Amino acid sequence: MLTVKNIDVYRGKTHVLHQVDLHVGHGEIIALIGANGAGKTTTLKTISGFLRPAKGSILYTAAKGKKTMDFSAMAPEQIVGAGISQCPEGRGVFSQLSVKENLVIGAYLRSDNEIGKDIQSIYEMFPILGERLNQAAGSLSGGEQMMLALGRSLMSRPKLLILDEPSLGLAPLIIETIFDKLIKINTQGITILIVEQNAVMALELSHRAYVLETGRVVLSGQSADLAKNPKVQKAYLGGE
Ligand code: ATP
Repeated sequence: MLTVKNIDVYRGKTHVLHQVDLHVGHGEIIALIGANGAGKTTTLKTISGFLRPAKGSILYTAAKGKKTMDFSAMAPEQIVGAGISQCPEGRGVFSQLSVKENLVIGAYLRSDNEIGKDIQSIYEMFPILGERLNQAAGSLSGGEQMMLALGRSLMSRPKLLILDEPSLGLAPLIIETIFDKLIKINTQGITILIVEQNAVMALELSHRAYVLETGRVVLSGQSADLAKNPKVQKAYLGGE
């Protein structure tokens, strides 16, 4: 579905990503893990068109048999239109707007008549949002804002959902609720690429994972195997 091929990315004069390769197959949950500053957010921003690779390509095929596109030359809005939705680090909800208005904004590129139906299904997924539909998003708790950000990302009916640190700053119980929903979302046919510092949760959730260190992919494989890898355990899972 998505193949990031040998990309180099600079931020200002800083060479942040070095020959990063990663592949996301249809229906997979892929995790990208790594320490602070490893380049995870930079990778996501490059996929969604906010940063341009100096080298390499980002190839995307919406479904088998469809034309392959190269995101490295496309604008963020075209990339959303191709079926990618990014749920950014720090949630990014519009705090002055209501819960419902935030969800409507998530559907801004759609012109079909099922937007109301999809909003209902978000309320079913997260009943607390339904109870607070007219409340300003800024007055929600951190966990509720994360649910709203996730709901808003789903409103564009993405084929690939990209999440940047969804667990950041949330209580363990809320993280579990969100991660359970991610599994459900995936079983409904949405492919997921997730960046997480919480490597334990990320490796439990995902099918495969990539480990990024100082802008380079240093390890990749099945998540269950990576969770047993002594290097991963020592660096990311709190092992000896
Ligand atoms: P975190 O978990 O802290 O968000 P990350 O793995 O997502 O980390 P990035 O945010 O991608 O890492 O940052 C990677 C590197 O790029 C860091 O060394 C950071 O200092 C640098 N960087 C990020 N943004 C900029 C910028 N706007 N200009 C220059 N360097 C930047």
